[in-house]
Amino acid sequence: TVVFDWAMRQEAMERMQIETDLRLLLYPENKTYSPPGEFYVYYQPIVALGTGKIAGFESLIRWFHPEKGFISPAVFIPVAEESGLIAAIGEWVLLESCRQLKQWQAQFSDFSRLKISVNLSSRQLTSSLCDRIDRILAEADLPGKYLKLEITETAIMEDPESAIAIFQELKKRKIQLSIDDFGTGYCSLAYLHRFPIDTLKVDRSFVQKMSQWGENAEIVHTIIALAHSLGMETIAEGIETMPQMQQLRGLNCTFGQGYFFARPLDAQNATRLLKEKKRF
Ligand code: C2E
Ligand code: CA
Ligand code: CA
Ligand code: CA
Repeated sequence: TVVFDWAMRQEAMERMQIETDLRLLLYPENKTYSPPGEFYVYYQPIVALGTGKIAGFESLIRWFHPEKGFISPAVFIPVAEESGLIAAIGEWVLLESCRQLKQWQAQFSDFSRLKISVNLSSRQLTSSLCDRIDRILAEADLPGKYLKLEITETAIMEDPESAIAIFQELKKRKIQLSIDDFGTGYCSLAYLHRFPIDTLKVDRSFVQKMSQWGENAEIVHTIIALAHSLGMETIAEGIETMPQMQQLRGLNCTFGQGYFFARPLDAQNATRLLKEKKRF
């Protein structure tokens, strides 16, 4: 048990260190702190499976720590959520993403309908969210219809009634809503229909376990068909192979995302795809 306690202590200390580093990054005491800083937004293409065209990008935050190197969002986002720092990080990602999309729209007339998808933490699902987003959209000069927010099934289920109220406010601004990681929580599609959701993201665990005749293919097929019958579009995430892509296209899944198409890219490399009019 001594080893166990030591390991737990070690982990707690690492989390505290991450929190301290995040705090300094977001609220520097030294006012001369200057960009570009350590945070970046990376962009992963979301591809229309019918045409192979890029329909949008998902924004994924990256943290390159000067001493520790790359720190995964899977590690620091939970720390940021617990400490409340996620609000500041989330607003930074939103503004950065909206500005980038605005720039792409101005630069590439072929991609005037491109959308940007931004992840939202359950901690951001508060009554002040709409005001904050209004300010960000105004600052980026971007109409709400180009913004998609991704919220996990689990986050919604923390407080479904208040989530519905917030979603309705967001829909007044024509903001699109996606359910992230669908299938990993405990919510049925029939229940989700009560929420004004536009898109359902099938969790990558289903996509990756999908074999041509196996049980998971049936599950994915059922989720996609039901989502479409409820008027939602579908995204399959974590597509890594050609057979997975072909199978999902065969199931009429609307969009696909994953390493098979592209990894999350920095702004420069994402821009290059648009410049090339990349078709997958
Ligand atoms: P997520 O929203 O489910 O994002 C998808 C994750 O799958 C990303 O990991 C992405 O890089 C990864 N991915 C994409 N395609 C593939 C594939 O083909 N195979 C595999 N194995 N993985 C793939 P990432 O970027 O490490 O992000 C992890 C999680 O951190 C995200 O999961 C999201 O929950 C959270 N996150 C990332 N950025 C933000 C952010 O700006 N705000 C918030 N609140 N959460 C974020
Ligand atoms: Ca996501
Ligand atoms: Ca996901
Ligand atoms: Ca996830």
